[in-house]
Amino acid sequence: MQGVGFRPFVYRLAFRYALTGFVRNTPSGVIIEVQGIPSLLENFCSALRSDAPPLAKIEAMEESSIACISEEGFVIGDSSSGVEVETLIPPDIALCSDCRRELLDPSNRRFRYPFINCTNCGPRFTIVERLPYDRPFTSMHGFSMCPECAGEYHDPLDRRFHAQPNACPVCGPALSLVDASGKPCTLSDAATETVALLKIGRIVALKGVGGFHLAVDARNDAAVHRLRTRKGREAKPFAVMMRDMRVVAHFCELSDGECAALTSAEAPVVLLKKRSVDGLSPSVAPGNDRLGVMLPYTPLHTLLFDEELDVLVMTSANFSEEPLVNENEEALLRLKGIADAFLMHNRPIYLKCDDSVTIYSSGLLRQIRRSRGYVPAPVYLRESGAVVLGTGGELKNTITLLKGTHALMSQHIGDMKNFEAYRHFQHVAIHLQHLFQTSPELLVHDLHPAYMTTQWALKQELPVLAVQHHHAHLASCLAENRETGPSIGLLLDGTGYGTDGSIWGGEVLIGDAAGAERFASFESMPLPGGDAAVMQPWRAALGYLSRSFSTMPDLPFMKERSIQPVLELLQKKVSVYETSSCGRLFDAVAALCGMQGEITYEGEAAIELMHAAGGTMGHSAFRYALQAENGRWIMMVSPIIQDAVSAVQQGVAVSEISRRFHRTLVSCFTDIIRKASEATGIKTVALSGGVFQNVLLFETLVRELEDAGYRVLTHALVPSNDGGLSLGQAVIGRSFLTGHYRGIH
Ligand code: ZN
Ligand code: ZN
Ligand code: FE
Repeated sequence: MQGVGFRPFVYRLAFRYALTGFVRNTPSGVIIEVQGIPSLLENFCSALRSDAPPLAKIEAMEESSIACISEEGFVIGDSSSGVEVETLIPPDIALCSDCRRELLDPSNRRFRYPFINCTNCGPRFTIVERLPYDRPFTSMHGFSMCPECAGEYHDPLDRRFHAQPNACPVCGPALSLVDASGKPCTLSDAATETVALLKIGRIVALKGVGGFHLAVDARNDAAVHRLRTRKGREAKPFAVMMRDMRVVAHFCELSDGECAALTSAEAPVVLLKKRSVDGLSPSVAPGNDRLGVMLPYTPLHTLLFDEELDVLVMTSANFSEEPLVNENEEALLRLKGIADAFLMHNRPIYLKCDDSVTIYSSGLLRQIRRSRGYVPAPVYLRESGAVVLGTGGELKNTITLLKGTHALMSQHIGDMKNFEAYRHFQHVAIHLQHLFQTSPELLVHDLHPAYMTTQWALKQELPVLAVQHHHAHLASCLAENRETGPSIGLLLDGTGYGTDGSIWGGEVLIGDAAGAERFASFESMPLPGGDAAVMQPWRAALGYLSRSFSTMPDLPFMKERSIQPVLELLQKKVSVYETSSCGRLFDAVAALCGMQGEITYEGEAAIELMHAAGGTMGHSAFRYALQAENGRWIMMVSPIIQDAVSAVQQGVAVSEISRRFHRTLVSCFTDIIRKASEATGIKTVALSGGVFQNVLLFETLVRELEDAGYRVLTHALVPSNDGGLSLGQAVIGRSFLTGHYRGIH
């Protein structure tokens, strides 16, 4: 990877051990030739591994001996050998410990300079306009380095050797704090004044690495409330930024893996279990036993915390599912009425990139939203092949470009129904191709004819392939695990267009990237109003009840709703959609238990139902049944609904209903997987789909399947939700180009 400081690191090591020779980039990797005293050569080799800069991950190292020659000094060879060099732009990297020390050192010339960086840290992906990764082609091109900075930049022994965004207070970008009308309101230091505003409960829009955040003191309940009201975000949890690990440990439970993730160079948001929320505004993450936490990852963030101000709500400055706002003017315009003040700077953001969101479960850090810090580092594939572009799905969209053994996944783009997000999508689709200097032979899109991503693919003058949603989920999980053989895919999510035109989402597909057989699915249930039912789980509940009972049972939740019109729709079968969705099953059970009948973001009801279980599985299960029908197994939903209803009528607590429901699903899934394995002899199971973000279901199922002797493939590097779809699509596209594609049957 370029710009991760590997070659200067090698130079410094060679210098340390008095070796001569060179280091050079080649298409197949880095070549180092060194000559010197044998013991020092050994030291050099072990230091290469142990002291490599945080961003330079050595995948493999080969050594061989050659004859000595007469040479002097050590040189960094240029990559200009005429051969095409694989250039990888590194992701944006959190402030390193060396820069943090300098930032807080009053004697350093960059003391409190909010744009301090070096080869080991700072912005990359978001400032690169085009290749090669060189300052003139980044958003730093407007700043010319002062002699001191230039000296560092050209000195191979300096930590800032070839650090493209290198800057200082004399020559680099500067902060400005303006009020809601855009008028400057700083008397002295902008960061200090921002802290003062935050302390009195003001909402400040902050320009960061990949876009704007809205920040507010997370201990100030009135202020957090005001942010929710102004932003029109009722319940969706806010991420917080905490001053340091001490503060995190006070509020949250922390495992070693979670500590490592928080303090990593990628610095993602990690969803941590709440420990004590004393002192934190209850509106930060209502109805959720987890808190999305990150540490300050830029020098600017570091300057915003002190002894009193130790937790900030830090939420993307966007409107619902729109991508981040990035330019200063746009921020002032679009965040009018939300932010009381704007802390901005004059280093443009070339590419928007949200914070990444992760969770640690079953022993691995798992991506929920793979963005800043990870993108555009490749996901490594087992096999090479044609250049293919997967356009992703409709929600949580990402794009994936396959080039060689690299799957280049874009950052989280968002909800394609939103026009701004769609524009961002178009920009990213082009930018990815420029950045990696390639263009696809084939575009792969979702089978859904109405998706914006489908529409876009059809408008390009390139061959296209439509791929079934859950097949793409399966292929994504296999690709991430570098698995090519056939597997039993358990694919659980909210919505995916099926080959029969109905809405799928609780599927067992057996196969691989080339094709799969629909071995089993949930019993089909009527969904009155289609998409309207996604935000109104009580509608889903009515649909599920109507098919599970011949006479509608009387349940408390019905009294609060005007159910008659919906029942009529169901009876007349007008705008009623058939679905085997697992997400809707969660919604229906949540609603008939009397949980929220209307939600403000997709999956809210399912998340609340999971939290009700308090992390415990039930001992007893509801009834479920597996029925063979037209050569496919049906996982019957109606007995589950019937038992859930009697539990509600008997006054069983919601927590217990949730536990039994989770137990039922795990038993049902292990049963159907056993049948699939007996039928095919396959012992590998792949789990994919947004429902697997349910930690209780996921962890229990993984454990029980592994105990039963299966090899279980799961997502970690790639989201299991629709953010991972584009990878699966692109890999399926390759099997199409080699003539192996069979599709779903
Ligand atoms: Zn640094
Ligand atoms: Zn300078
Ligand atoms: Fe999906």
